[in-house]
Amino acid sequence: MNLVTLFEFAVDRYPNRLAVVEGDRRYTYRQFHNEVEKVAASLQKIGIKQHDRVMILLKNRLENTVIYWALQKIGAVYTPINFRLSVKEVEYCVNDAEAAAVIYESVSQESVLKANLQQKPILIGLGEVEGADIYYNELVERSPGSLEKPTIDDNDVALMLYTSGTTGKPKGVPRTHKNEYSAALAHIIQNQYQDGESTLGTMPLYHTMGMRSLLSIMFLNGKYVVLPDFDAKEALELIEREEITCLYLVPTLYHDMLNHAEFPNYDLSKLKKIGYAGASMTTALTEKCIEMLKPEVFVNHYGSTEIYTFTINPNVMEKPGCAGKPGFHQNIRIVKADPDGHATPEDVVEKGELGEIIANIESPESFKGYWNRPDATKKAIRDGWYFTGDLGKLDEDGDLYVVGRVDDMIISGGENIHPLEVEDVLAKHPKVHEVAVIGEEDDRWGQIVSAYVVPKDPSLTIQELDDYCKNNTKLSNFKRPRKYVFIQEVPKSPVGKILRRKLKTGEFELYINESEKI
Ligand code: ATP
Repeated sequence: MNLVTLFEFAVDRYPNRLAVVEGDRRYTYRQFHNEVEKVAASLQKIGIKQHDRVMILLKNRLENTVIYWALQKIGAVYTPINFRLSVKEVEYCVNDAEAAAVIYESVSQESVLKANLQQKPILIGLGEVEGADIYYNELVERSPGSLEKPTIDDNDVALMLYTSGTTGKPKGVPRTHKNEYSAALAHIIQNQYQDGESTLGTMPLYHTMGMRSLLSIMFLNGKYVVLPDFDAKEALELIEREEITCLYLVPTLYHDMLNHAEFPNYDLSKLKKIGYAGASMTTALTEKCIEMLKPEVFVNHYGSTEIYTFTINPNVMEKPGCAGKPGFHQNIRIVKADPDGHATPEDVVEKGELGEIIANIESPESFKGYWNRPDATKKAIRDGWYFTGDLGKLDEDGDLYVVGRVDDMIISGGENIHPLEVEDVLAKHPKVHEVAVIGEEDDRWGQIVSAYVVPKDPSLTIQELDDYCKNNTKLSNFKRPRKYVFIQEVPKSPVGKILRRKLKTGEFELYINESEKI
């Protein structure tokens, strides 16, 4: 269950197929592998040893994918973090990982160079950056050529991802070869991928979704088309030009592409398989995906950095919004939701009842604990089960519906309300571009439902929205928002998840009509 073996099989199988494409640079599997071997030998020569963590602060680039495989070849740990993190955050992660080296580029240079790095890691620069001990092109051009191949055990760590921290300080999640191998194979099966698919490499490689796309495509001798900075128009252009066949993205990126004014100008007919993960998709967006992309396969993947898959809905067309059944390697339960963390895996709720989703860590895709964080591990893993912090319920077919985070639940006048059910209604209003709902303190009700709306049409009024909710049979009266705020954009994490805490702390810009702007 070693990643390097599957990669080398692919290189031997179809060496002349295109592996990674970035702009004009088009590397076949053979060319790609040559560069990987050169970089791997150089990394070994400058002192990177097996099991060393190497921190990566790079955009999705061809070089980033080479470095990933070079580190795998020498048994080191690819440890990527968001290249836009602040000095303090970079300092925290590099020191926490005790990184032996840090690889950075211009966008991350300032944070890396200003951080107080305790272990004095080797600084490796990509492109025109200052302060590097050695540069990427030197690793390629001055490679010693020969490489000492280590023996890799299934349980050796291949990758360490940091959870992006929508719920607190970033935590390192060590992922072994077995974890990653199993997750890649599950991804291929669950998304119905075939030999030679091509995908857009735009979900960041520091996120579990980015990793999944890279590995599954390379094991199938497919083409990974790098798009370092997501831009809806550029994405549409690449999907057409590179004949992309499958996509695995967060809902926000589908939203941006489908709402782009030039969408109708592109021929996306080669795109057959689409999947989403990371967050729920509103019914309005689901319907748009079906109508505008006409997918043959449309998958909702519910998972996380820690385990990868919890559940999978292989047919969103049939059951929109549903997260389906346990994934290929998985065993899940719904237990009593207890925000204080006292629920046990035995507190299983009745079918149809709402509770916290938990997953068994026996799965080969599952982590076994956080890096250096026994406190967080103890809280998350109880009696062999990972507590996701997500709320869900099973329908009559045993299919899962994810309702939101335990912590996001709104309790108004003693009634439980989930942001998603209100967002789902408002997102369908023709004058609404985007919406996020939170609970806010209220003397009378404990909490009220507050809707933060990005208007599509400047003529939108609160009265219109309130009438719309009143007339919607799906939304009970007590779930109707009692407060509306029109905002410029919904605050999101780097991978496009709604950051509700920013709405609570007032970190947003109020909506101003185009005509009001100076
Ligand atoms: P944090 O765990 O702090 O939120 P993160 O965003 O980095 O940080 P991830 O591992 O990327 O964590 O996200 C996992 C979470 O994303 C899940 O627990 C769930 O809340 C949400 N999620 C993932 N996939 C789906 C999905 N298909 N539908 C609904 N929610 C999803």
